[in-house]
Amino acid sequence: MRRAALLALLALGLLACAHLAASLPSQSAVLKRKRGKKRAAAEQRQLAERDWVAASVQRYLSNQELGDWLAGFEKRCKAVAKLSTIGTSAEGRPIWALEISDRPGQAEAEPAVKYVGNVHGDEPTGRVFTLALAEWLCANHKTDPRAKRIVQSMHLWLVPTMNPDGFERRSRGNSQGQDLNRDFPDRFSSPAMQPSGQEQPEVAAMMAWSQSVGFVASASMHEGALVANYPWDGTADRSTRYENCPDDATFRHLASLYATTHKRMAQPDNPEFPNGGTTNGAAWYPIYGSMQDWNYIVGRCFELTLELSQNKWPDEPGLAALWEDNKDSLLAFPLAAAYGGLWGTVREEGSLRGSKGREVAPLGGANITVLATATGEEQPAWVLSREGRGDYYRPLAPGRYTVVVSKAGYKPFAANFTVPADGSGAQRHFVLAREGSNWGGEVAHAPRFLAGGAPEDASAAAAGGGGSLLPWKAAIGLNGSGEAGQLWTAEQTRSRDRLVMLGAGAVCVYGLWITHSRLKRRSHPRRM
Ligand SMILES: [Zn+2]
Repeated sequence: MRRAALLALLALGLLACAHLAASLPSQSAVLKRKRGKKRAAAEQRQLAERDWVAASVQRYLSNQELGDWLAGFEKRCKAVAKLSTIGTSAEGRPIWALEISDRPGQAEAEPAVKYVGNVHGDEPTGRVFTLALAEWLCANHKTDPRAKRIVQSMHLWLVPTMNPDGFERRSRGNSQGQDLNRDFPDRFSSPAMQPSGQEQPEVAAMMAWSQSVGFVASASMHEGALVANYPWDGTADRSTRYENCPDDATFRHLASLYATTHKRMAQPDNPEFPNGGTTNGAAWYPIYGSMQDWNYIVGRCFELTLELSQNKWPDEPGLAALWEDNKDSLLAFPLAAAYGGLWGTVREEGSLRGSKGREVAPLGGANITVLATATGEEQPAWVLSREGRGDYYRPLAPGRYTVVVSKAGYKPFAANFTVPADGSGAQRHFVLAREGSNWGGEVAHAPRFLAGGAPEDASAAAAGGGGSLLPWKAAIGLNGSGEAGQLWTAEQTRSRDRLVMLGAGAVCVYGLWITHSRLKRRSHPRRM
């Protein structure tokens, strides 16, 4: 009886294995063929898209042509692009914004960064570079690691022209003759940074949109020099001198990153800025009502003003070379600003959930205050964790710091951390306990599965360890939506699946082997 059962089992096992063996190669051949076809199609597409990049840097498009191009781009690259307008110019022309992301139009626990071109109507290279950047990202986001990271781990917004009326006239100001980069609320004439209501429509649109998205960093594109400019732009007494803002070190770091990644900006033959290609705004010439200072103060957004060509309105045959000069910098800046400093999530303690640990929920509006450890100086960039998702991004220059995470009604938490010089950033996740909670002294801990790298000290370990093992897109919830729950990265999910399959395979082989050896033992005596 038992022998018959064992035999049947063996037969079944053999059948299953034979079936598998028969089906596997043919399946894999089909898969291979499919993959080959897919790859060929992708290559074809890439070839075509490389032409789009080349075409985008041939000449200046009229406003009408630019609108058509953007609409076409959105259709061609709809998986990673969404076109919208942030408002209209004084003469009613649309101010377009192109969102580049693997989930365009969707709110995610990811940082937003923007590039704004053509702020001055007679400085049009930003129109070209934003378009070329969009085309390049669309063409390369499956193959180039930088493009992949940008598309997968952030929302990059491109505004090709903030001043379409000025472009139409080839004038610096808009149709009302107003310089848009002097029209923002200014910290001296309007200390509360309240808009006067008299701002030009282009500026009003930019302010409203910037605040609704909530950018971590941005850059506006200009011409007339070759330099990366950073706050402050103005001085109290209107004198020309270096006026450092509280985040001077971080701004110098970001400006220098742009300049040194640029093909020519940081070269000693840069006529006006031979010493590294960067400048403090007020040290060059003070201005008031600039978009850069407004972004930093009101938007908590680290904005650079990029002067990208010695001449204004450079000749069209030189545009392709100018794009090549800037391409690597344009790719490096958003990643360095968003992920090169301190970033992570803030959550709040929830109710106990079984033995698996505490349930946690995203906590928005928590204040991330960073102090430079060396000087004890506060770097007051008032960065807040975002409502609904709890993620935060705090650009920083490499160095050692202390971070204090606080919110009214919660116990504040402090941790030390280091921003490494290699640009990989410091990833920290915090869980705040409610005031009066008896949750021991532990107010922050590493969400499970997120710890990686060697923690620097006990409090940093409690706050989440290093992030060296994680891909750029840390899973915040399973789908980046920021819901409470266990945290898995894609890599961890894959390795878990591999383990499960290996385990199942081992069990199957073991079972067959046992069956086989038992049958062998029993059948031998009879044959002998
Ligand atoms: Zn300008």
